[in-house]
Amino acid sequence: MGKYTKEDVFRIVKEENVKYIRLQFTDILGTIKNVEIPVSQLQKALDNKMMFDGSSIEGFVRIEESDMYLYPDLDTFVIFPWTAEKGKVARFICDIYNPDGTPFEGCPRYNLKRVLKEMEDLGFTEFNLGPEPEFFLFKLDEKGEPTLELNDNGGYFDLAPTDLGENCRRDIVLELEEMGFEIEASHHEVAPGQHEIDFKYANAVKACDDIQTFKLVVKTVARKHGLHATFMPKPLFGVNGSGMHCNLSLFKNGENAFFDPNGQLQLSETALQFIAGVLKHAPNFTAVTNPTVNSYKRLVPGYEAPCYVAWSARNRSPLIRIPASRGMSTRIEVRSVDPAANPYLAMAVLLAAGLDGIKNKLTPPAPVDRNIYVMTKEERLEEGIVDLPATLAEALQNLKSDEVIVNALGKHLFEHFVEAKEIEWDMFRTAVHPWEREQYMSLY
Ligand code: GLU
Ligand code: MG
Repeated sequence: MGKYTKEDVFRIVKEENVKYIRLQFTDILGTIKNVEIPVSQLQKALDNKMMFDGSSIEGFVRIEESDMYLYPDLDTFVIFPWTAEKGKVARFICDIYNPDGTPFEGCPRYNLKRVLKEMEDLGFTEFNLGPEPEFFLFKLDEKGEPTLELNDNGGYFDLAPTDLGENCRRDIVLELEEMGFEIEASHHEVAPGQHEIDFKYANAVKACDDIQTFKLVVKTVARKHGLHATFMPKPLFGVNGSGMHCNLSLFKNGENAFFDPNGQLQLSETALQFIAGVLKHAPNFTAVTNPTVNSYKRLVPGYEAPCYVAWSARNRSPLIRIPASRGMSTRIEVRSVDPAANPYLAMAVLLAAGLDGIKNKLTPPAPVDRNIYVMTKEERLEEGIVDLPATLAEALQNLKSDEVIVNALGKHLFEHFVEAKEIEWDMFRTAVHPWEREQYMSLY
């Protein structure tokens, strides 16, 4: 049973004086798209009859096959807390369907459900995600454009008065709570102007919906405080970038399938195999979890972001860390993912990688409890620790070579993703950057 019936929705819309409905979905690059309809069209929308032109959305379809349908997911019905005097605005998150009533292969949300089905075929009932998105707040100028000026000099867990972003962050948390989020933690991060808000884990589709909503709320509230919130992975050289650590677990009929009180580190065989699968495919799914040119400026030594493929229960530098709690909260924390990732695609490839480990009963390498950053390349190689890709170009090459990851995206998403990202890389590769002029202009 879902959370809401159509009748519930009609009743709430009336009681709360909702006047507009936003139908939201996420495109391949992870951007939220909106179609806003007056409430008079609600019946039509709930009958799955709302059409939009798929060819106008990046990477969706060709002109000749452009009619697509939005199927609202009733459980995602939420009223925005900040909306206008004339009446409120509510939203649904939608799946995209073809005119013949079949799900559209290029819909990232549908694709995640497809991979979840593969998980169910292996006997698991739930894939849970608890995300830890980080972001920066920059001041806006008089024209409302973002500047590079930070609004505080705070550091990790600092409080006001250094942390002037605190009021803004508190407002963000309040709005999120009004929208039904359960916020577990909210704090200043290591870099000046950097923040983190963690919310409660949920099944992967809901958690991805939450991430998308979260970004929208953070940006909207920041603007009201004269600030620009960015989820760009590495906005500033010389300080930490922004990650989005993903806490992952598999459940089987209400039991955490990663927990075994008698296992190594109290982890089950399933957990170890899942870890092995994620490590095996990590260099190849990185193009999806770290999808921008800028993502690779974060994955460098010295800034608490991973750049080597390893796991540990003790230290924080590896790609996978095992947080201390056990029992129902047993989970693995994948630390490479950044908040520029399309969460639906990121979860599809992470799940497929883990399931591949389970299907093939893979054994993970020994956990690395030393600081990997102080090891030499030879020492790393001896322990079987490989590097994550250093550029988007390298990451895309790897992605194309890995059948498991390609299948996790499906043909349509894979082809369109790679095409868009190769163009992005080529634009960066051929642009002349300020750094080059600084280095070479006087020298040559
Ligand atoms: N900002 C760090 C990163 O880029 C993570 C810091 C932390 O929360 O441990 O991943
Ligand atoms: Mg953090």
